[in-house]
Amino acid sequence: MLNGRCNKSPMKSIEKTYDVAVIGGGLSGLTASIYLAKAGLYPFFIVEKMNQLGGRAMTVKKKGASLNMGVHAFYLDGEGEAG
Ligand SMILES: Cc1cc2nc3c(=O)[nH]c(=O)nc-3n(C[C@H](O)[C@H](O)[C@H](O)COP(=O)(O)OP(=O)(O)OC[C@H]3O[C@@H](n4cnc5c(N)ncnc54)[C@H](O)[C@@H]3O)c2cc1C
Repeated sequence: MLNGRCNKSPMKSIEKTYDVAVIGGGLSGLTASIYLAKAGLYPFFIVEKMNQLGGRAMTVKKKGASLNMGVHAFYLDGEGEAG
């Protein structure tokens, strides 16, 4: 997976050995990837079964209109709505 696009047959293209694999390129997987990169734990790879990143946070195009799906607010544990 490069530049937000996924190889259609990612398992066939893996020729290197990685210490870390992130399963799923949704918000959780991408957030985990940021933390891995910040901690210097790379290279790692993200396995995503769809042909785009974002998981349930996606933009769907219907009849010329763009609908933003997914997260609209984040909630911090015990601190209420964060935005
Ligand atoms: C309309 C709508 C509004 C929402 N509003 C909010 C909100 O306000 N606040 C909030 O916190 N949340 C909201 N959510 C929920 C929000 O979608 C999730 O909080 C967030 O997107 C979950 O991210 P995730 O990465 O955990 O899971 P997902 O987004 O589901 O990502 C999981 C990823 O893993 C991939 N995957 C699954 N199985 C495999 C596999 N075996 N191999 C490879 N890849 C795999 C999937 O294709 C997907 O890309 C909303 C959801 C919807 C639909």
